[in-house]
Amino acid sequence: MNGGDKPCVLIVDDDKLNIRLLGNLLKEEFDVLVALNGPEALERVISNRPQIILLDIQMPDMDGFQLIDKIRQDPEAKDTPVIFVSGMVSEQDEKRGLEMGAVDYITKPFSPAVVLARLRNHLELKRQRDLLSRLSSLDGLTGIHNRRRFDEFLSHEWRRAERTGEPLSLIMIDIDHFKPYNDNYGHIAGDETLKEVASSVSRTMERGVDFSARYGGEEFVCVLPDTDAEGAWQVARKLRENIAALAIPHAFSDAANVVTISAGVATCHPVEAESSPKKLMEMADAALYLAKKKGRNQVARHEPVSGVAENSQTVEAKPSGKPRVLIIDDEPANIKALEMIMAGQYDVCSAMRGKEGIELATKEPKPDLIMLDIQMPGMDGYDVIKRLKQNPETRDIPVIFNSILSDEGTEQNVLDLGAVDYIRKPFHHVVTLARIRTHLRLKQALTTLTDHNAKLERLLNLREGVDRLAKHDLKLPIGAIISSTEELLERQDLGQAARLPIKTIMSQSYHALDMVNRSMDLWKIEQGAYKYIPAKVDIMKVLRRAVMEMESLRKENEIKIQILYSGAVAMPKQELMVMGEEWLFHSMVANLVKNSLEAAPRGSRVSISVQETNGLRIEIHNLGAVPVEVRGNFFEKHSSFGKGHGAGLGAYIAMKIAQTLGLMIRMDTSGESGTTLALYENEPS
Ligand code: GH3
Ligand code: MG
Ligand code: MG
Repeated sequence: MNGGDKPCVLIVDDDKLNIRLLGNLLKEEFDVLVALNGPEALERVISNRPQIILLDIQMPDMDGFQLIDKIRQDPEAKDTPVIFVSGMVSEQDEKRGLEMGAVDYITKPFSPAVVLARLRNHLELKRQRDLLSRLSSLDGLTGIHNRRRFDEFLSHEWRRAERTGEPLSLIMIDIDHFKPYNDNYGHIAGDETLKEVASSVSRTMERGVDFSARYGGEEFVCVLPDTDAEGAWQVARKLRENIAALAIPHAFSDAANVVTISAGVATCHPVEAESSPKKLMEMADAALYLAKKKGRNQVARHEPVSGVAENSQTVEAKPSGKPRVLIIDDEPANIKALEMIMAGQYDVCSAMRGKEGIELATKEPKPDLIMLDIQMPGMDGYDVIKRLKQNPETRDIPVIFNSILSDEGTEQNVLDLGAVDYIRKPFHHVVTLARIRTHLRLKQALTTLTDHNAKLERLLNLREGVDRLAKHDLKLPIGAIISSTEELLERQDLGQAARLPIKTIMSQSYHALDMVNRSMDLWKIEQGAYKYIPAKVDIMKVLRRAVMEMESLRKENEIKIQILYSGAVAMPKQELMVMGEEWLFHSMVANLVKNSLEAAPRGSRVSISVQETNGLRIEIHNLGAVPVEVRGNFFEKHSSFGKGHGAGLGAYIAMKIAQTLGLMIRMDTSGESGTTLALYENEPS
């Protein structure tokens, strides 16, 4: 990995002048790596992992096409965006480059503003995609659920169906002859098709409880809760029909002349003892295999008797799920040219006047992308984009400028106005399509992320709402129990025999109160969203309470606990007021004391010592040593080592809280002197 904050770009070119030119242009914004030939480039790719690659095509020995092929074979580098920068301008070359998985194609001589804009665009696109994958329940390419989420969902629904006794159905889907599709139409077209199929699958699942995911490569899977074999069969048929109706041409399929799927359906009753999620999957898989064997483009179910049935070949008109592109251009020939380029893939509309274009942009269905001419009579392209950017309804629609003007000032100008790209006329078929695709994807990724965030926010609000309720409702009664037991304990006439159970009630009530507090707040602390409001806290009282709560654990392990203040045993009512939040202090200390009690050798002593000579310092010591294996990551989450060694979640929680309280935390351990956890305000002077 590269170290700096700037993204790392690799320039591969056998021409040193070109390298210098590009290097100078990019060095402000990027960490620039260079390679003069293919082997050198591969080495850089492997050792430096650049985030984006600018690649010359014509080079001695290994040319750009061969190199990109090699890069795509490295699992870690295969998704790195590659932009061809080349003097070769034949449409054939561009086509080849893009089909080999380059994300863009820039011809020499290049315009600096445009090179920078393209690089930024592709980096952003990659970033969005990565982010999406990290949001981890979604598939980065198609935006529908991924396999991980599917596993979770299936096991959750399985357990639910075990309780309710309802049936559970599963549909496995595999695109027919998809390898020849990729081989002939290219990987980019393949990806587009995967997205269309994915969105058709997810649209077909009408009931809110139904679930669909990308299982892998060109395979999808649907889970239908509370659905019997007949219901699942109907859904699978509809899936097949809807995908055929997308009418995506596939001249290399034996099953049809459009992209089709085969699907396998299986149904289980999870209450039945011999069933399992694994078995359900196997059944659906077997059915899918049957559908393939019988000739593809059909649905089969796992049922010994009925075998394969349905195979309706009707291809209905496609419900238009295509992205909508608005062309604004005063020249009918240009509109025609763009319409021809986009035919079939996009839903195109056009306007010959700026004003008319703006109207179209605000009307439903709104365009997903706008291709905008600069020179137009009346309102020109500059005016149009300004208006579009002023209106919240059209502000986020990506705009690509098209013009025969090709001076750099113009390009810089339009990019500054908020255009996402600039394409010079006359239009290159392949390149224009590639650019449109890039910007649509970028937009879609952003939309998906925005939706995702909104969903998370709603969940968070809901969670906070529930939490507030729970806290409010629980805190009052628990608080009442605590204060009554405190009163009880203070009564002189209370018999000795009654003291112990009352103390237990009290410590358990504190424990419950703590859990209520923790449920949300610790989570918030982790997210960095906790509002810390310091007030005066008696730290000695907090320590006494933590010790009292741990009474049974202490007894069980036959440990003696001692609280020290300034080096001497603390007085029973010793006070030390510090600034903080009581429950934070309590939770932090309680976790550490508990760890300490668990780690201390039977019969030994645990001491908690408080000092305030150089700011607050609390040390919790026991004679056990932290196992060597966890010393390095003691404060990490789940670094638990075996039971009873006390380095589980507790240390992590304590560390997080210490950070919030503005305290430092450190752990010292050795076989001879045992383990000390220190919480302190200032480094010892
Ligand atoms: P069958 O009808 O028997 O399923 O034939 P097939 O060609 O679809 O079978 P196979 O499973 O061998 O091929 C799957 C192909 O799907 C391999 C690969 O070319 C393509 N593929 C898998 N994942 C992706 C992806 O993420 N993007 C693209 N473009 N293609 C993919
Ligand atoms: Mg397959
Ligand atoms: Mg297949």
